Amino acid sequence: MKILVTGGAGYIGSHTTLALLEAGFEVVVLDNLCNSSDAALHAVEAICGKSALMIRGDVRDRALLDRIFQEHAIDAVLHFAGLKAVGESVRKPLEYYDANVGGSLTLCQAMAAAGVFRLVFSSSATVYGEPEQMPISEHFPTGTPTNPYGQSKLIVENVLRDLCAAEPRWSVALLRYFNPIGAHDSGHLGEDPNGIPNNLVPYISQVAVGSLQELSIFGDDYSTADGTGVRDYIHVVDLADGHLKALQSISQRTGLNIWNLGTGDGYSVMQVLRAFEQASGRPVPYRVMPRRAGDVAESWADPSKAARELGWKATRSLQQMMTDTWRWQSNHPKGYQG
Ligand code: NAD
Ligand code: UDP
Repeated sequence: MKILVTGGAGYIGSHTTLALLEAGFEVVVLDNLCNSSDAALHAVEAICGKSALMIRGDVRDRALLDRIFQEHAIDAVLHFAGLKAVGESVRKPLEYYDANVGGSLTLCQAMAAAGVFRLVFSSSATVYGEPEQMPISEHFPTGTPTNPYGQSKLIVENVLRDLCAAEPRWSVALLRYFNPIGAHDSGHLGEDPNGIPNNLVPYISQVAVGSLQELSIFGDDYSTADGTGVRDYIHVVDLADGHLKALQSISQRTGLNIWNLGTGDGYSVMQVLRAFEQASGRPVPYRVMPRRAGDVAESWADPSKAARELGWKATRSLQQMMTDTWRWQSNHPKGYQG
């Protein structure tokens, strides 16, 4: 089977491309490299001895998409391409709606024209807003995301729901990721954010490696066990495996399917920090700051639907996530640049 992976040079896309190649799929990557470099795909090739075909281009480029579908017998699309920085989305809403909503619309139009109806979409737990109860199940109502990034994910989910209702040939997986972290255990494929990281684990690991001075903990007055925010961190390799299972499943059915991809366990900022210190053997200095606008106190998944329907379960522990992050960060203190 041949799979088109948009955003395949990025953090989650490159780990999933590796998993696809290892499982025997042929992979065509479409990525404009606006937040990545093709070094990630070179690392994939070095790890598994197989390579994806890399096409540098934009998912909003309809003519390019038409050409790709003409030249390759694509069976399904995994759609990772998009912009993901929450704070930046508040400052640049048009860019975010254009890339995330516009890109998804153009992709679906090109897929329909080419007769390709299998799609796995990277959604996010952010679409749940602020649920009243934990853990979060797929049947919970979606909330009102507090930023354009989250809105763009919810809009695309709604577009895909309407599309499946209108045209029974579509077979779509909406994968709602919780907090992907970690790196491949080779230590040569990992997360390489541009500039100062927004997310907790990349920030902590850059403090540990000496690139940043100290972590700001955004609030220690939440009603959680130690007062810091709680999230469901999931290893990126488990997440990649979830995509393969979703792909298998949508190849055997049509319609819209929603699956949470999380572990079902919540860990606080302080627990993550301590686990990272243990894995790296380095202290991570921190300072408690006010809460970050838009953050929820806690969020963790009920992953039982994916277990039941996909036969998928995350298997890697928090300590494993920290060990793998540190191996990647200490091997590559400046990411793919060094
Ligand atoms: P990433 O930035 O590492 O990967 C996205 C890739 O898409 C990058 O390689 C980028 O160059 C490419 N891209 C962006 N706009 C493009 C365009 N218009 N045309 C072609 N390529 C384009 O991000 P990631 O963490 O790997 O996330 C992948 C997907 O998962 C995104 O859609 C993101 O919103 C979603 N997601 C991520 C997280 C997370 O915490 N990392 C959580 C939930 C959902
Ligand atoms: N966080 C923090 N300091 C940081 C980044 C994040 O204290 O520099 C906290 C944040 O408030 C949340 C958790 O870490 O409780 C996870 O945040 P992240 O941005 O990684 O993911 P989110 O769940 O917001 O998508």
